[in-house]
Amino acid sequence: MPKLFRFMIFVFLLLFAGGALAQEAPDWTNPFPPYRIIGNIYYVGSQGLAVYLITTPQGNILINSNLEKSVPMIRESVEKLGFRFSDTKILLISHAHWDHCAGSAAVKELTGAKYMVMDADVPAIEDGGKLNFGRDAKFSDSGASQYQPAKVDRVLHDGDEVKLGDTVLTAHLTPGHTKGTTTWTMKVTDGGKTYNVVIVGSPNVNPGYKLVNNALYPQIASDYERMFRVLKSLPCDVFLGAHGDYYGMEAKYARMKEGGPNPFIDPEGYKSYVAEREQTFLAELAKQKAAAR
Ligand SMILES: [Zn+2]
Repeated sequence: MPKLFRFMIFVFLLLFAGGALAQEAPDWTNPFPPYRIIGNIYYVGSQGLAVYLITTPQGNILINSNLEKSVPMIRESVEKLGFRFSDTKILLISHAHWDHCAGSAAVKELTGAKYMVMDADVPAIEDGGKLNFGRDAKFSDSGASQYQPAKVDRVLHDGDEVKLGDTVLTAHLTPGHTKGTTTWTMKVTDGGKTYNVVIVGSPNVNPGYKLVNNALYPQIASDYERMFRVLKSLPCDVFLGAHGDYYGMEAKYARMKEGGPNPFIDPEGYKSYVAEREQTFLAELAKQKAAAR
């Protein structure tokens, strides 16, 4: 085989594996300054992986634990803001993919937090991600996306409330990306006003996802449709999500530092994001349906 041709195959495989086997993106481990978003909600994630700290007089809630190696960085961010990591009473996640939940076993061990997970994501969490829903079977046992199993202390169902101190979070089942992908909502008070907060679980169709004839997840397409119905029905003032790039986190952070109105209050941004993601899903579904014919 000519050298150049072999090199091209190598590059192709590298790119293909990067998409299909879900490698780590560099921004997932880049540190990001912790900051207060609004009210009692703080950002304690990395550049690419969002983690939210919600503080209450009775202890704190953490949403997402990220990669196993992210946990010391999350702890540092919490402490930089003047809170104690050991005050974390409840751990929640966006969905059972390792970039949002691989650190959960370590967070539980360090803080004693109660781990609360949506029913349909519990099997994946408790077996360390061996059940990789939604993907074609040939991608389902990629070692890259497995993690240390963690015991779930409370199994959540659609519409369940998680209460701590004066904060109430509602768990909305928004499935498709995983069977138990969860969108969190809460009310927050800031400057004498009350706002509806939405933390989107994930509306994305990953490379390799089979939307048609998926034996591992037969109802995947109708679950995505259900998820978009739910997202469109949620009142949203403050738009957040599992990754900062869902809502332009970095640009909004920069604008917030300049002063003026809080850029995270962005109801129009939420609506246009959900509409754009739905169009992308529908286009992918049509493409896969046509290919299956
Ligand atoms: Zn995911």
